[in-house]
Amino acid sequence: MKTVELLKSALNGNFLSADEGKHLFFNAPTPELMWTGNEMRKQRKKDNTVTWIIDRNVNTTNVCIANCKFCNFYRIPGHEESYITTIEQYKQKIEETFRLGGDQLLLQGGHHPELGLAFIPIFSKNLSIYILNLSSIHWALLRLLILLNWRD
Ligand code: SF4
Repeated sequence: MKTVELLKSALNGNFLSADEGKHLFFNAPTPELMWTGNEMRKQRKKDNTVTWIIDRNVNTTNVCIANCKFCNFYRIPGHEESYITTIEQYKQKIEETFRLGGDQLLLQGGHHPELGLAFIPIFSKNLSIYILNLSSIHWALLRLLILLNWRD
């Protein structure tokens, strides 16, 4: 499989298979991927329109038990600097996001052993009016898995 051929194929409007995508992921130089992606955008957007999404990462908590070696953000449970973002703080952060033109939220943060499944309905119920106006909310995948695995 040749990287150049795959990029040319993509430029010709052909879909790539999963294996071809994987090949590009591991082998294609980033500048060539960027150039190809930009050319594909220009093919589809004749007026040269470029769009992007303004979103905000909000940390649900800095309490975490994952202990990633590179991380200086987390605090162990019970640490004096630990926090859980309150509903009022979420409101403030979402309002700031709207004010600056954003409409997407990423819920990021530590893996708090006591922040269980109950967090999801509390979050949704109290922030529903804001959620309706967001284009999307993303949960950091690992964070969501932790929530789903913990029982209240
Ligand atoms: S999971 Fe996130 S918050 Fe927790 S230690 Fe790792 S990087 Fe830090």
